[in-house]
Amino acid sequence: MMAVSAEVKEYQLLIDGKLVPSSSGETFEIYNPATNEVIGRVAKATREDVDRAVRAARRAFDEGPWGRMTPNERAKRLRRVAEIIRERQEELSRIETINSGKIIVESRADVANSANCFEYYANLTGQIWGETIPMNGPLFDYTVREPYGVCGQIVPWNFPILMAAWKIAPALAAGNTVVLKPASYTPITALLLGQICLEAGIPEGVVNIITGPGNEIGAALCEHPLVDKIAFTGETETGREILRLSAGTIKKVSLELGGKSPNIVFPDADLEEAVNGSLFAIFSNAGQRCTARTRLFLHRSIHDRFLADFVDKAGRIRLGDPLDDQTQMGPLVSPRQCQRVLHYVERAKSEGAVLRLGGKKPEAPALQRGNFVEPTVFDQVTQQMTIAREEVFGPVLSVIPFESEDEVVQLANDTIYGLGATIWTKDIKRAHRLASRIRAGNISINYPVINPPEAPFGGYKQSGIGRELSRHVLDLYTQVKNVVVGLSEEPFDWYGRWPAGR
Ligand code: NAD
Repeated sequence: MMAVSAEVKEYQLLIDGKLVPSSSGETFEIYNPATNEVIGRVAKATREDVDRAVRAARRAFDEGPWGRMTPNERAKRLRRVAEIIRERQEELSRIETINSGKIIVESRADVANSANCFEYYANLTGQIWGETIPMNGPLFDYTVREPYGVCGQIVPWNFPILMAAWKIAPALAAGNTVVLKPASYTPITALLLGQICLEAGIPEGVVNIITGPGNEIGAALCEHPLVDKIAFTGETETGREILRLSAGTIKKVSLELGGKSPNIVFPDADLEEAVNGSLFAIFSNAGQRCTARTRLFLHRSIHDRFLADFVDKAGRIRLGDPLDDQTQMGPLVSPRQCQRVLHYVERAKSEGAVLRLGGKKPEAPALQRGNFVEPTVFDQVTQQMTIAREEVFGPVLSVIPFESEDEVVQLANDTIYGLGATIWTKDIKRAHRLASRIRAGNISINYPVINPPEAPFGGYKQSGIGRELSRHVLDLYTQVKNVVVGLSEEPFDWYGRWPAGR
C-alpha cells in the first residue's frame, strides 16, 4: 500500500532568521506525487516579502558579521550544516520523497550529496585568493576576489535539496548572503535547509528562503535593485525570461538550463554495462533530470540485440511506492508533468516513431492515484522528430540508429542544448576523439552520469551560462578587484614625466 501522509503541515517563509507568514496571509497547497494527497500548506510570498527578504540579506551582507568572519569561522559553520544534514539524513530523505515522488534510495543519495557539498565548500573558504601581476614600472598590482553581495537563487523541483545545496554552499563560502526561491511543487527541504543553516550558527539574514509563484516572486527577485547576482536552474525558456528580467539592473546571471543529451554506444563497448548504464541514464529520477541521456544512438550492427536487452530490462523496472526501498521508479512530480510527457508520447507516435515499450500510465490499481508513467522507449526516431529535439523531462527514450563516427557526432551535436553526453566504447582513441568533438559541458566515457561537487558542471549552447560545482563556481560568486600601488619615491606628475620605467 502507498504510504498515507500523516498530517497537513504548515510551512512559513524564512526571512531575517525568522519563520514568518506571507504579508498577504495567503498559502498554497503542496502534494505527494505518489497519491496526489495534500501534504502541506506553504506561505505564498508577495513582492513585499521579496523586498523584506532582500533587505534582510542586504543588511546581513553590508553590516552583519558574515562578511567579516574569518574563512575558518565560515568554514566551521558550513561544516556544521553538513553534520546536521547527516544527523537528519533519514528524516530529510523521507520528506524529499513524499514531496517530490523521488524514490527513497535516490533521496538518500541527494541528501548525502547535499551534506558533501557543504563540506566541500567549507574546505574552500580559505582558498579564494587573488593574484599578483608583474607591472612595467614601479607599481605593485594585485587582485582580490570579493563576494558579489546579495544573491538571488531560483531552483527547480527535480532535485529540491541538492539544487538548494549547490546554490547556497558556494555562495556562502565566498561570503555572500542569499535569498533562495525553491520550486512551488517541492519547497519543504529547502525551507528546512534554511533552518539548518541558522541552527549551524550562520547569522540571521544570511540565508532567506521564500516560497511562491515563480513568475511573481522569482521575477521580483530578478528585478530587485538590491540583488547583485542571480543564479538560476530550470528550463531554458525560463532562463531567457530571467535574462530579460535581470537586464534592467545589469545583474550578474548564471544559468543551468535544459538538455537533450546523447548516449552513444559503439559495437566494441561492453554491451551489458552499456545497457545497465543507459537504463540509469534515462530512467533514474523517472527521467526528470536535466542531464538525462534522452537520445540513445545505437550503432546499426548492435542495434537489434542491444535494444532487445534494453527493452527487456526496462520493462522489469519496478514502479511503486517511492518510500519502498525496493521501488526503482517513482511518479512524476505532478499531474501536469504527467500530461506533458503523455503529450510528447502521442506526438512521437504521430510523427512515425516506433513505440517499443510503455507510453502510458501503468495499470496497477495501487498506482492509479499517483503521477506514474511507464518507462517508455521509442525506436527509429529521427532528428527531425519533436521527441528528439525538445526536452520531455520524463521516462521517455528516443533510440536513433547510426552508421559512422562522423554521422553520430553530427547527430549528437544537432541540438540547441549542450549539457551532457555519454560514450560507450573500449577504443581509447575514439573515446577521446568524441569527447573533444561533442559540444557539451559534461562528457562521461563508459559511465552513465555523475555530478559530484569536485567536478565542474554546466552547459554549452542554450544549456546555460557559467559552471557550477568545483572551484569554478567560486568565479560565479565572487568578483575580481584590482589594486595598484605606486612604489616610486618620485612624486607622480602627469605633466612632468611618467613614473620611471614607462
Ligand atoms: P522552471 O523553469 O519551470 O522553474 C524553475 C524555477 O524558476 C522554479 O522555482 C520556478 O518557480 C521559477 N520560475 C518560473 N518562472 C519564473 C519567472 N518568470 N521568473 C523567475 N523565476 C521563475 O523549471 P522546472 O520545471 O522547475 O525544472 C525543470 C527544468 O529544470 C528542466 O528544463 C531541466 O532541464 C532544468 N534543470 C536544469 C539543471 C541544470 O543544472 N542544467 C538541473 C536541474 C533541472
